[in-house]
Amino acid sequence: MEYIVDQDKSTYIKTQFEKSIGLIPDDIQVGQLIKFYDMTVEKNKVMNLTAITEFEEFVMKHYVDSIAIIKVMDLKDKSYSLIDIGTGAGFPGIPLKIMFPKLNITLFDSLQKRLVFLDEVIRELGLKNITTVHGRAEEFGRKLDYREKYDIVVSRAVAELTPLCELSLPFCKVGGFFISYKGMKGAEELVDAERAIKVLGGKLEETLEFILPVTEKDENNSGRLLIKIGKIKPTDSKYPRGGGKPFKSPLYIDKSSK
Ligand code: SAM
Repeated sequence: MEYIVDQDKSTYIKTQFEKSIGLIPDDIQVGQLIKFYDMTVEKNKVMNLTAITEFEEFVMKHYVDSIAIIKVMDLKDKSYSLIDIGTGAGFPGIPLKIMFPKLNITLFDSLQKRLVFLDEVIRELGLKNITTVHGRAEEFGRKLDYREKYDIVVSRAVAELTPLCELSLPFCKVGGFFISYKGMKGAEELVDAERAIKVLGGKLEETLEFILPVTEKDENNSGRLLIKIGKIKPTDSKYPRGGGKPFKSPLYIDKSSK
């Protein structure tokens, strides 16, 4: 497939990717990243997809942030199965697919109309081995076709870490990883999630802090934390719990005993 590449945008993407994550996309990948940006901004006029529409900000906060996972997980030339829980407008799933085309990606969300948009994106960009699935994580995490079927589970900006672990870890194969994209508050959430991680069959593998290079106005909001949790045991069949329990009665450490 051929893309007409806007030279300034192309140079900006290549420079920022190389500087921030040490990876330079080729011309096809750059064309796909620009096209995805254009489609998102256009659709955003009629559907709530993102608050970020300025090109440079979009590249940093959506693209570089999504790809930053490579700081804790090597994805180059890997054909891992990966599910993005609460993908929304396709983050981090679409940028990961563009940069690592061998991945087998499932974009999962409870909001159907965002997935209809992502189906259009997949078609227009000519992406293969990527699919959208509509549902609630609490329900699909119990289904045989989804439970413990993914090498990697990722999620960004969906819920606090404790309920998020209950929603996400059931999808992860034993031997696989759940990687949560967080801001700096993630460190406090991680303390609270210690029990949940263990109860759900996980083990904290690594955390990595980094600063997203952003403009001055976002200086106080540029800290990021990647939390990598290994799945070391199958998740007990009683999780995820239904009826909103992961949120109403999260699997915290008993705070009174801290
Ligand atoms: N991950 C994207 C990002 O970082 O830009 C979207 C974040 S958006 C704030 C949260 C998304 O999670 C929404 O699209 C919402 O529909 C989805 N979501 C929330 N709870 C969910 C659940 N229980 N199961 C599936 N999707 C869920």
